[in-house]
Amino acid sequence: MSERNIVKVINRYGSDGSIALAARISYGAKHVESERVGPIINGLIANKEGTPFEFASMWFYIRCSRLCHSQFLQYRHASRITRSTRRVDPIESESADLDKLPAGYEQTHIDYALRDYAFQTDELKIPREIARRILPMSILTEFYWLVNLRELMHFLDERLSNRAEQEIRDIAKRMELEFAGAFPITYMAWRGSNA
Ligand SMILES: Cc1cc2nc3c(=O)[nH]c(=O)nc-3n(C[C@H](O)[C@H](O)[C@H](O)COP(=O)(O)OP(=O)(O)OC[C@H]3O[C@@H](n4cnc5c(N)ncnc54)[C@H](O)[C@@H]3O)c2cc1C
Repeated sequence: MSERNIVKVINRYGSDGSIALAARISYGAKHVESERVGPIINGLIANKEGTPFEFASMWFYIRCSRLCHSQFLQYRHASRITRSTRRVDPIESESADLDKLPAGYEQTHIDYALRDYAFQTDELKIPREIARRILPMSILTEFYWLVNLRELMHFLDERLSNRAEQEIRDIAKRMELEFAGAFPITYMAWRGSNA
């Protein structure tokens, strides 16, 4: 993953056990023995019963290009809050990461846009909400993404694929690792269903 991109887990809710518990309320169960969790989750995945996976979530912090961010917007069942260039300057304007700009034409293009943006806001005193219109899709943004496991698995199905663009695929790989660590039984069942 590029040094410009960051993926972190801020929080998580639920566990493999809470998913199994949610599923067993259909049978009146108020408790699930630990040895039953694996078979229940495998059954849910095999039968494509998605609702119990909505009872566990992960809250991610993601830093990526605005282009990549626009691809996250397509997932309508996740909650998202994004840094606003109406309120603050672009990340590149205030960080020491300028040397990590993508190489070549893209770097020149970002450099030019940031200088033009700074001229508009600092010299011409044009408000950020107007000046930001010239910023390219390749500059960074940051956002929180709260996603339940049903939607996360759908996202990973699509964005780990070779059809997905490199940037979001790299981010999806990092998210997959976090998913595997936090919900190992669900992760293995989902992986098995994709094998
Ligand atoms: C490789 C790739 C290329 C892409 N290229 C483009 C592109 O060129 N242009 C573009 O616009 N998008 C593109 N997309 C985005 C794609 O069209 C979907 O918007 C995105 O993948 C989210 O899928 P989704 O709608 O299933 O997800 P979600 O919005 O997360 O929905 C999850 C599931 O909920 C159900 N659902 C959600 N909303 C509704 C609804 N209104 N009615 C009925 N069921 C619903 C569906 O079963 C859906 O699969 C691309 C995606 C990929 C992976």
